[in-house]
Amino acid sequence: MGAQQVRDGFVGLYGAEPEGLWAAPGRVNLIGEHTDYNDGFVMPFALPHVTVAAVSRRTDGLLRLHSADVGGGASAPVELRVDELTPESDRDWTAYPAGVVWALREAGHAVTGADVHLASTVPAGAGLSSSAALEVVVALALNDLFELGLRGWQLARLCQRAENVYVGAPTGIMDQTASACCAEGHALFLDTRDLAQKQIPFDLAAEGMRLLVVDTRVKHAHSDGEYGKRRAGCEKGAALLGVDALRDVPYAKLDAVLGRLGDEEEVRRLVRHVVTEDERVERVVSLLESGDTRAIGPVLTEGHLSLRDDFRISCPELDLVVDTANASGALGARMTGGGFGGSAIVLAEETDVPAITKAIEEAFATAGFTTPRVFEAVPSAGARRLA
Ligand code: ADP
Ligand code: MG
Repeated sequence: MGAQQVRDGFVGLYGAEPEGLWAAPGRVNLIGEHTDYNDGFVMPFALPHVTVAAVSRRTDGLLRLHSADVGGGASAPVELRVDELTPESDRDWTAYPAGVVWALREAGHAVTGADVHLASTVPAGAGLSSSAALEVVVALALNDLFELGLRGWQLARLCQRAENVYVGAPTGIMDQTASACCAEGHALFLDTRDLAQKQIPFDLAAEGMRLLVVDTRVKHAHSDGEYGKRRAGCEKGAALLGVDALRDVPYAKLDAVLGRLGDEEEVRRLVRHVVTEDERVERVVSLLESGDTRAIGPVLTEGHLSLRDDFRISCPELDLVVDTANASGALGARMTGGGFGGSAIVLAEETDVPAITKAIEEAFATAGFTTPRVFEAVPSAGARRLA
């Protein structure tokens, strides 16, 4: 699926050339998991996998939406009226792009309609944030076409609002910011409290390393509910400790703070994960900045153990990837994304990649798990206009 095909698809559907073509990537989070709704640190990078949208303005209030990835691409465009969009109105895939239009209009931007056709190479539901890629590509196209002058982080905020309020998925700000703001050859160090950003050079190939993404193809049916429970537990922890967010608990005082949580066993585990995870992000940043890239491997694995044992959101497939990769010579590995399935990442020397991949595939076969999809993740560009 290339940009030309998306353009051709648009012409076939709407009978005219699109005004432009845009792309927004999926992302992998290198480190900083479940910290974004605790005002903490995250460090995603963009994938080469993108959602491409061909878009034209309309002035008659009509919003027409079509995805080549839904129903084999054979269906007609969905037609909505921009002045009738409400968070209750639709619940299928169109809620993501319609939610973006709704959020822009709610913020006072005169978006008067659009024709949209899109297609994606971001695997959906694999924890690689196809939802943010979809939102951000639409937001960027409308920002350009209607000359709204919004910056990447502002578009990300509006996309988050679309996903939280319109789609009804309580996600943090990381995914949309990653898709909107990442840079090629870099990871994005993001402070989710004030959205301060720093691009950290992360060019593994130049140093003879690779980062593998292993999509376990597992999707936990209750992941939304579990996410909500973790989030509520973190909020309870912050309230018990009298801080605005767990970000405000200093790592140096963690032991004393945990002692104050008395018999709140579960809250204590959640707090410990979030506070130690923020510290791991800062450690990874300083290791990368001092050129000690290989040393981030063990920090990734530490992060996985914290997610498995304290946050309790791993699953047997993710644990098997991490254990097998590390036993076969990986520098480090961890689950990435929301948990209960989705993908894991593996940092490895380039020369060890074939053996590690083979070991993971064999371990999955032996365990009777679905064959995982393994691919290499090259830190790629954020959202951009193609034509
Ligand atoms: P993730 O963001 O991890 O891929 P989500 O459940 O958050 O998983 O988002 C996946 C949903 O986003 C899909 O079920 C679909 O509704 C929507 N989506 C993503 N990409 C596309 C696409 N190319 N076409 C239509 N819908 C899409
Ligand atoms: Mg998503």
